[in-house]
Amino acid sequence: MVNVDLHLHTTFSDGNLTPDKLIQLALKKNLHVISITDHDCTDGIDEAILAASDSNLTIIPGIELNTDTDDGEIHILGYFIDYQNKDLQKLLTECRNSRVERAKMIVEKLNGIGIDIQWERVQELAGHGAIGRPHIAKAMLETKSIRTFQEAFEKYIGRNGVAYIERFRLNVFEAISTIRQYHGIPVLAHPGYIKNLDKLLPNLIEFGLKGMEVFYANYDKNTINNLKNIASKYELIPCGGSDYHGIKTKTEKLPGALGPPIESVNQLIELKNKQS
Ligand code: AMP
Ligand code: ZN
Ligand code: FE
Ligand code: FE
Repeated sequence: MVNVDLHLHTTFSDGNLTPDKLIQLALKKNLHVISITDHDCTDGIDEAILAASDSNLTIIPGIELNTDTDDGEIHILGYFIDYQNKDLQKLLTECRNSRVERAKMIVEKLNGIGIDIQWERVQELAGHGAIGRPHIAKAMLETKSIRTFQEAFEKYIGRNGVAYIERFRLNVFEAISTIRQYHGIPVLAHPGYIKNLDKLLPNLIEFGLKGMEVFYANYDKNTINNLKNIASKYELIPCGGSDYHGIKTKTEKLPGALGPPIESVNQLIELKNKQS
């Protein structure tokens, strides 16, 4: 167990715990520094900060932006982003609206091939946050259209699934620029999934990438060591965390299962102070 976890989701995207409940869990796990990194949404940050205000737990405001490239999906984390900026919030609202339209289309497509789920139920499951495919998967589980969460992605709503539909999203360079524009520190999420990482990194760094996840959820020692070397080669701050969603699958890692050393947090803070 570690005491830094810089990748956590709440009910404001596709996590199952409210910010308040997540903070309680983080405190139970003895965490010292965490970041809330919901997809396209920062609305859970203030609730988390309030819930941690009587403790020694430090909360770094964060976000996770999903982008698409020819090599697949790439997610960019933004630490210390100026989440109270109105223009940023306008952009995030647009991103979330496009998620709603797309989710609706996926549900229609699923209904069309005989999968019995209700759009209203999917919306209900998404609640106040950014709606995403995991909410559709949950609805499918409820109606027993699938047996496991994974099956939903493999057969239906994953990139190669029969009901997959694209949505508007920033490209990876726009995501990095957006985070920089609002004084955040852009960090590449779960790079273990990315093909051609060595080729891609110099381009991302040119746009302002400052860190990369190394200590990530279920990466094994070899992967972590390999990523550590790559981060050090490109002088990227080694970050990481559990990417906890509270979906309770057998393989899900709990907050604090994996994360970077406190030195990485200090480097992020140092950079933040230099930037602003
Ligand atoms: P969306 O935001 O609608 O594009 O959905 C992306 C989210 O779905 C990711 O952040 C993951 O939490 C989840 N996800 C994507 N692909 C898979 C998969 N193959 N298996 C399980 N969860 C997935
Ligand atoms: Zn997620
Ligand atoms: Fe991600
Ligand atoms: Fe995530």
